[in-house]
Amino acid sequence: MPKRRPAGKSPKSERAGTARAVTLGIDLGATKAVAGAVDAYGRVVATSDRVRHANDGPAGVLRAVVESARQCLDRTSARPRVVGLSVAAQVNPTTGTVEYAPNLRWRDEPVGPVLEDALGLPVRIVNDGRAATLAEWRYGAGAGAHDLFCLVLGTGVGGSAVVAGKLVEGATHAAGEVGHLTIVAGGRRCHCPNSGCFEAYVGGWAIADRAREAARSGAGPRPDDVEAITAEGVFAAGRRGEPGAVRLIRETEEYLCAGVVSIANAFNPEVLVIAGGLAAGQPGWVSAAATAVRTRCQPPAARARVIAAKFGEDAGMVGAAVWAREYR
Ligand SMILES: [Zn+2]
Repeated sequence: MPKRRPAGKSPKSERAGTARAVTLGIDLGATKAVAGAVDAYGRVVATSDRVRHANDGPAGVLRAVVESARQCLDRTSARPRVVGLSVAAQVNPTTGTVEYAPNLRWRDEPVGPVLEDALGLPVRIVNDGRAATLAEWRYGAGAGAHDLFCLVLGTGVGGSAVVAGKLVEGATHAAGEVGHLTIVAGGRRCHCPNSGCFEAYVGGWAIADRAREAARSGAGPRPDDVEAITAEGVFAAGRRGEPGAVRLIRETEEYLCAGVVSIANAFNPEVLVIAGGLAAGQPGWVSAAATAVRTRCQPPAARARVIAAKFGEDAGMVGAAVWAREYR
C-alpha cells in the first residue's frame, strides 16, 4: 500500500530550503497533455505548452505526453527525480497500468513502464479525481483538513475522499467514484454498466445529451446544430437567459444537490471541495450545494463546509506531482 506523510508536512530536505527540488506532474486529457514542474510548496515553476494529440491510440498519445515532459524540462534548470501522470482512468499504481480509460478507449495499457523507458525516470500514475483531491487537500481549498471529500465535475464526475487524514484507496484503487452513485433508480443510461448514475445527469457529456434531447423534442434547431451542442454551450445560453438552457441548468443543479447531500451523509467530511471545469463554469452551484448540505443532510453531516476548489487547470499536474513524490 502507498505510504504518505501527515497532511501539510513537507519532507525535511524541502523544509531545509532546497527550493529547486521539483517533481514533474503531467495531466493527460482526452485531447492534450500538459506537464508542470511543481516545487515542494505546490507551486508550478515551469510548464509545457498544451500538447495536442489525436486520441488515436497509446503510441500517439504517449508521444504527446513525452513531448510535454521534454518541453517543460527545457524550461527549468531543476531536475525532477520522479514523474506523476494524472489520467481520467481506472489505474493500478503498483504496476503502472491504465486498466480502463473510456475517453481514451484504452484497456490494460502498460503506460507507466512505457513512459519510464522514454523519460528515464520513475513514473507513477494516478486517477485524475484523486490527483485533484491531492492538490486541493495538500495545497488548495482543503489544505490541512482531516476529513475531506473533493468532488470533480467535468466531462465525467469523479472524486476522492480523505478520511481520518488518509486518502482512501479502495481494494482496487477505485474508492470515491461517486459519479456512479445511483440517484435515479432505472434512470438514464450511463457510460458505465449502470443507469441512473449521478454522472448520467451532471457530467458534461450528460448535460450535452440532455440538451440535445430537449432540442430535438422542440421546434427549430437544425440537426447539425443539435449535434454540436456542448455543456459549455448550454451554460453560455443560460447566461444569455435562454429559457430552455436556464431550465436545464436549474434541473442539473437539483441533481447536483441530491448527489452532494448523499456524499456528505456517506463520508461526513469536514470540507467538501467542488472542483473541475464544469463547476468553474457555474459558480452558483457551490452555494446551492452548500445550502443543500446545510438544510438536507443529517445534522452532524450538515456541518460540512462546501467550498470551491482553489486550483483550476493546474490541479491535475499538481496532484500528479504530489502523488509521485509522496505515495509509493
Ligand atoms: Zn455510471
